[in-house]
Amino acid sequence: MSSEVAAPVVLPRAPSVTFERIRHALTVAPGIAVHFAVFAVPFVEFTVWSIPAMLFTAYLTGLGVSVGYHRYFSHRSYKTSRVFQFLIACVGCASLQNGPLWWASTHRKHHAHSDEEGDPHSPVLHGFWHSHIGWMMSRKTTQGDYARMKDFTVYPELVWLNRLFMLPALACIVAAYGLMGWNGVVWGYCLGTALAFQVTLAIGSIGHLWGPQPFDNGDSSRNNLILGIVALGDGWHNNHHRAPSSAQQGFRQNESDLSFNIIRGFERLGLVWDVKLPPAAALQEANAAAR
Ligand SMILES: [Zn+2]
Ligand SMILES: [Zn+2]
Repeated sequence: MSSEVAAPVVLPRAPSVTFERIRHALTVAPGIAVHFAVFAVPFVEFTVWSIPAMLFTAYLTGLGVSVGYHRYFSHRSYKTSRVFQFLIACVGCASLQNGPLWWASTHRKHHAHSDEEGDPHSPVLHGFWHSHIGWMMSRKTTQGDYARMKDFTVYPELVWLNRLFMLPALACIVAAYGLMGWNGVVWGYCLGTALAFQVTLAIGSIGHLWGPQPFDNGDSSRNNLILGIVALGDGWHNNHHRAPSSAQQGFRQNESDLSFNIIRGFERLGLVWDVKLPPAAALQEANAAAR
């Protein structure tokens, strides 16, 4: 009989409540703070560049979310190199919508439980305001469900960026100040980011409430015309729930999809490959529903 005594099992300590509160506050506060920049508008100079700078940031961060966080990290609708995936993750981080792994894990959960118990932001189950912004305020939600992201948590640089997602945003703020002073920070960065933030949130609320449903997906997803345009293609949300892994979300010719055009552009440049398209049956169904 062995005289060896088994070493005691040391379980990792759960983070304290205080730590969790600080982590949660640091996660949600930056995205909320940029909205308050609207109160700084009377105090900064308005120039001919204010609106273009705001739209530039709204497009850039919107594309970071749509092309990067959504179509790549959540749905793997195309393949790319390790370097380029890190770059698109950085652009997504500039949106202040939390880190890429958190965003994609939450979105994968949304698709796994659309409008059922477990969906983080269903207006059908929990009402408009909860689906739009209330769901993000929960500490449990901002913890993320990283078991869903094992395909990406193998990359240490992504895990690191996911924790320090504010760094690319801080770099943008410094650049905006350097280029345009406080006008650049308020109009160029904060208001542009807030605009793109609201559009993303609207996909979870309005995108499941108002608009036609050419496909019967068993959920409340809609094709909303306005969101289709301002969300750079992500607003054809009923199409998207029909074929989630497709890089193309505008199925018909009149359904503009800037994010897909950008992905196609990247493909031509050799930066991405194996771009997934919607099944032919879905395209036929979409055209038949429009007749
Ligand atoms: Zn949805
Ligand atoms: Zn999706």
